[in-house]
Parts: sequence; C-alpha cells; structure tokens
Amino acid sequence: MHQGDRSIVEVIPLGGLGKALAYAVPRTLREEVELGRLVRIPLRKRSEMGVISRLGTDQQLPREKLRLIQRMVYAFPVLTPDLFELAAWMKDYYATSAAAVYEALIPAALRREAKPKLNTFLKLGQHVDEAAFAALQRRAPKQALLYTFLKAQSRPILRSTVLSRLKLSPTTCTALIRKGWVVEVVQRQERVAYDDALSKSEAVVSVDFALTPEQASAVEDLEESLNAGCFKVHLLHGVTGSGKTEVYIQTALKVLQQGGGLIFLVPEVALTSQTVGRLRTRFEKLGVKTVVWHSHLSEGERLDAWRSLACGEARIVVGARSAVFAPVRNLKLIIVDEEHEPAYKQEDSPRYHGRDVAVYRSMLCNALCIVGSATPALESLYNVTVDKYRLNTLKSRVDNQRLPTLHVVDMRREAPKNVGSGLSQFLSDKIYDRFERGEQTILFLNRRGYSRSVICPECGYVAQCRHCSLPLTYHRIGEALRCHLCEHQESMLSHCPKCKLPNIRWKGQGTQRVEETVRRLLPRASVVRMDADAMSKKNLFRSILADFRLGKINVLVGTQMIAKGFDFPNVTLVGIVDADLSLHVPDFRASERTFQLLVQVAGRAGRGDRAGEVVVQTFTPHSPPIQFARRADFEGFLSEELAQRKSFNYPPYCHLVRHLFRGKNPEKVVFFAEQWARRLEAAIGEAIEIRGPAPAPVEKLKDEYRFQIWYFMGSVSQLLPKVLDLRKAFPMDKDVIDVFDVDAVNLS
Ligand code: ADP
Ligand code: ZN
Repeated sequence: MHQGDRSIVEVIPLGGLGKALAYAVPRTLREEVELGRLVRIPLRKRSEMGVISRLGTDQQLPREKLRLIQRMVYAFPVLTPDLFELAAWMKDYYATSAAAVYEALIPAALRREAKPKLNTFLKLGQHVDEAAFAALQRRAPKQALLYTFLKAQSRPILRSTVLSRLKLSPTTCTALIRKGWVVEVVQRQERVAYDDALSKSEAVVSVDFALTPEQASAVEDLEESLNAGCFKVHLLHGVTGSGKTEVYIQTALKVLQQGGGLIFLVPEVALTSQTVGRLRTRFEKLGVKTVVWHSHLSEGERLDAWRSLACGEARIVVGARSAVFAPVRNLKLIIVDEEHEPAYKQEDSPRYHGRDVAVYRSMLCNALCIVGSATPALESLYNVTVDKYRLNTLKSRVDNQRLPTLHVVDMRREAPKNVGSGLSQFLSDKIYDRFERGEQTILFLNRRGYSRSVICPECGYVAQCRHCSLPLTYHRIGEALRCHLCEHQESMLSHCPKCKLPNIRWKGQGTQRVEETVRRLLPRASVVRMDADAMSKKNLFRSILADFRLGKINVLVGTQMIAKGFDFPNVTLVGIVDADLSLHVPDFRASERTFQLLVQVAGRAGRGDRAGEVVVQTFTPHSPPIQFARRADFEGFLSEELAQRKSFNYPPYCHLVRHLFRGKNPEKVVFFAEQWARRLEAAIGEAIEIRGPAPAPVEKLKDEYRFQIWYFMGSVSQLLPKVLDLRKAFPMDKDVIDVFDVDAVNLS
C-alpha cells in the first residue's frame, strides 16, 4: 500500500529510537520530498525534526489518520543516500538509537536549524560625476568621506570594518545606499578552520623525489583497484618511515584527476594540521580545496566545512574519526592512517569504530578504502588472511635507513635504587650521552595500564588467571586477586610461587618520578613532562611539540600519545620506562598493544640521518611481544598471537561485545547483570558464549560499581534483535545503567 508514492512518506524523528513513522505529504511539498531530507513533523503535542527515510510506506494506516508533514527544513538533503544507509546500519550494528547516530552524522548547527552567518560588504555603486561629488562634500562631508574611502579600495570591504575605521554611523551609509552611490553585498561568512601558518611550517617542503620501487608497486596496485571502480579494502603495511603518506597522496591524486572526492582519517586531532599541511602543499596548486574536520571545531566551523563539502566546493576532508561522516560528494577513496589506533573507537554512544565505519561506507559508495599502519591491528591482518583485505607491504624505509636498535634492559638485574628512581643505569648513561651530543630523547611511560598487576621483582613472575590467560588484578578489599573476565578469585600471594622469594607485590609507576630523576641526572637540561593535563589543552600541547621540534627541549617525558605519527629528526634515543605497564593488564589485546607501542615508538627514533636507539625497561624481558619487537619480527609475533587468540576464541576469531552495568548500589548492579546474562543465554543459546558477570577492571568509578558481561559470537547481527526484545521484557532498574559496546576496544 502506498508504495513509492509521494503522498505518504516515512520519517525517523531525530530524537527517537529509530522507528519510522508514516506521514502524509501536503500537495505543495510533493515535488520536494526525497530521501535524507530534514522535515518538521508533528509528534504528539510537539513539532519535531525528522529525516525522510522512505517514500511510501507499508504501514497499514488509514489515510485520514495520518498527520501532515509541516515543512521542509532545508532545500537539500542533510544525508546523502550513502550516509542515510550508513546510519541505518550503525544503529543496528552498534545496537544504539537513531538519535545517537544522527547526532554523530548531522552537524549540530543543522539540527538546530541555524542560519549561516552573513557578512555585509560595501562597494561603489553607480558612477558619480565631479559636480555631484563636490556638492556632496559641501552638504554631507561624512558621506563624501565614506565614498572616497571606498573608491580607493580594490575590492568590497566589510561594512562593520569601514564604519568603525572611519568612525561613522550606519545612517551615513544608508544615505549613500539610498542614492545608489554605494551598494551592499551580502555574503556567507566562511571560517577558516585551520591555522595556515602552522600547517605550512609543518608541511614537507621537498616533493620532487621518485617513488621507491615498493611505493611504486603499491601505488600501481591501488590504482588498479581504483580503476576497477568497485569497493575494495587495501591494507598498507609499511614500516615507520617507509613513505606510506606518499602512497596515499599518489592514490589521492588519481582520485582527484577522475573528479572524485576523498576522506583522510588520522587518529588524533593533533595530527590533522600536519596532514592538512602535506595535502595542501600538493593539491592546492591543482585548485583542490581541503577542509579540516574534528571535534575541536566550533559549531560554525564545522557547518562551514560541511557546506563546503556538500556543495562540492571542497573535495578533500582531513580529520579525526568523525570525519568519516563528512558529506563528501562522489566519494571514491577513504584513507585510514594508523588504523590500529584505539582512538578510532568512540567511547560514547554511538560507540562506533572509525575504521570499520570507513570500510562500510566505502562499500556503500563503491569506493576504495586504504587502511594503513606500521603495526596493523590483528583484526586487519586477519582480514587479509581471509581475503577481505588486500595487502600491500613496504618493508624498507625510504633511503634505506636502518630501523633503530632495540635494547631490552632486564630490571630484575638493576640495583634497587635504580628501580626505585624509574631509570636503569644503562638508560641513564644513554640519556646523558645524548644531552652531551646535543641530541634529543623521548621517555615514554604508558599510563594506560591499570598498574595493579602482581609481579615478582626477582624473577618476573606475573600472577595469571588459570582460565583466561589474563593477569589477575590485585584488590585491596579482601586482599584478593581476581580475574576480570571470569569470576575466578584467589587470595593474594605471600611469596612468589616460582622463585619462592617473599618480595612479590603489586606495582605502579609515575611520570613525575621519572621526570625528577632526569632532572637530577641533567641539571642543566630542559626536561618537560607531557601529562594528561597538557594533552587536553590544545595550545599547550602544540607549543610543547613546537618547542621540542625547535630543539628547546632536551628530554620529553610523556605517555604514548607522543608516539603517534610525529616526525622529529633530532630524536636519537627513545626510552620505554616500564613496558610491563601495558603488558600485564587484564586485556586480551595487551600483547598486541605492547608490541605496537614498542615498534611505533622505535619508529620515532633516528628519523634524521643519525641512527636511533630504543631502550625498553622491563621485569619480564622474556615475554613474546618484547622479544618479537626486539628482533623486529612481525610475522613471528603475528603467528604466535593469532594462535593465542584462536585457542581462547578471542577476536579476530569472533566478535566481542562488552555489556557494562554500573550503579551506586553494588547488589542491584550484580543482580541485574546476572539476570541479563541468564535471560539472554536462554533466548540465544549456543550461538553466543556468555562470560561473567565479573567486576570490571576499574571496579569502582566515581562512586559507581561496575560489572561486565562478555558476549562472544560469530556475527553481531543475531544479537541485536534479542537485546531489543529483552530490553522490553526486562527493563533495567532506574539505579542501574547499562552500556552496550560492540567490538569493544577499551576493556577497563
Ligand atoms: P610513514 O608514514 O610510512 O612513516 P612518511 O610518509 O612520513 O612515512 O615518509 C617519511 C619521510 O620520507 C617523509 O619526510 C617523506 O617526505 C619522505 N619520503 C617519502 N617517500 C619518499 C621517496 N620516495 N623518496 C624520498 N623521500 C621520501
Ligand atoms: Zn579468568
């Protein structure tokens, strides 16, 4: 009934769960209805905004019961057909509401029906002869002043600027406009969302080099996929400094020549200006405009970027994960640089993964998707083995620089005073040498660990769960060791089960202590600590990086944030103060993360013409990620880690959904989590494996207790309908909040 008919449409209200409602279209609007258009609709007693999701309907409703669409909000669709379909997929796949998805896809300013900011410019109007002008000078000298001023300008001048500069009132201007001697030009204000000076200084100057043979064959292969004109994902696996960016740029060039548009994703806002700089130096002279897109843009800046892409004026967008939703026209290529980065996962609703959404959107657009990294995610490498992704490899650095030497320092052999200060003798000596030679050092302290694993400082034994192969976590309450995946629990050890010595303890380490140690070591050096506080302040972060680049800082102490993609030629030493922090945590990706961290960090050293060195401090030098990283043995690591994952049926061999329950009352939280687990198990049965509920690694956060259930399953789609049914049949208590995280990355 009413199929494909323009007199009835289905509309999904922006604020709702995603259910489409049928509305009648008034005769005057029938020409205009199309998918993705934003409309005003009556909903209960209010007027709401919604997106047209279908022309016609199957809903069996008597026509006279239907309410009418009130009006169109804009003269263009806010969602192109691909974005529209993407939204529908995200809502289901990530088990979230349409409201949350639309919030991510439609800029806030458009959802609020904001009008673009308009600017009024002044310029000369009709020709005025000398006699008339002389008369004006006598009768109205102020008007004559304004006229003379405008006559001297080569282009229209902002009205507000003219009036304030000449100290004139608006009436002077109005009088001249009424005579026709001056005219007003109204233009949309375009904000420039990037810092030009900055992106130019960070741009790579020299661009006239020949591609290396490896780069050339990657580009050729990518071009072939591009010319085939159908959806394809390539994984570009290139060691740090192998020139991946140049491969992206060459492929992008082909896309632009064919009239296509592209999205370039980087994992961090801080990396956008570096990339924009590189792209603009290359593409600006072709007359192609690049815009920036990330969460630090103001609402107005984002709206401008949106419009500029939507009307086809700009064809390239560079940004952090949300740029995957940019309304690029004729989208032919999506690049996901540093695709392994956890920052691509959004940690609030909708909890999407930027890389996975990029792949899905490429499929909808028949576009090419390149995901690139020096340390690809296991999921991506696995996708290569099952032929979902095609692999292109860059094995050598451009100009054949050697990868830096990686030294592993066994902290079990250090004097206790060195262990306490955070720096081994070996690393201290190296830092001192670099300072003497005028070279720079970066020291990393990975704060992502929960630093509550139990480790023996004598032999490096780490207490593990016998059921899950994950480190146990020390809980002060009850002096217990607990597993955060199953419910296994045992009492805190009084001595090490392996070497029998009584020194076993839980451990933690601070950036501050490391900073103090370095200051004592090098009293004349400039030592700067980049902590979480500095990361959150955009300008402080930039100025520290700029100072470091200029050599004003000798030693930079920070978290792995500074490991990401930056290129500092004068850094010849990188120290990883405590590799165990990221290694012995209750997260099945801990080995992968540690391996990636070591390899990425090593890539920061020796980018210039001097060889680099990396020093890794650890109590567990025998652990596989450290040993594989030391030998730069990627294949070895991959096969060992995949075998581990397979034996425990972890991703990439299945999908993992984390269902977190939190609330102030722990009994209630546990009760609801248990009920959920039991009911879902009954509803789904064999197809999904449920583990838990168990306490989350961060068991209590802001006075709330946190428990989690894990669902392991082959395909996510079978889960969602059951979840929705169960939500209805068994509503959550108002004191318990549950968070559903599909393909969870953060397991804390
Ligand atoms: P990656 O992203 O793989 O770590 P980049 O793309 O940043 O590496 O390249 C590292 C450096 O090498 C950059 O300064 C880049 O301009 C330069 N470069 C890239 N390709 C070549 C080439 N074929 N010849 C010379 N220099 C190159
Ligand atoms: Zn366990």
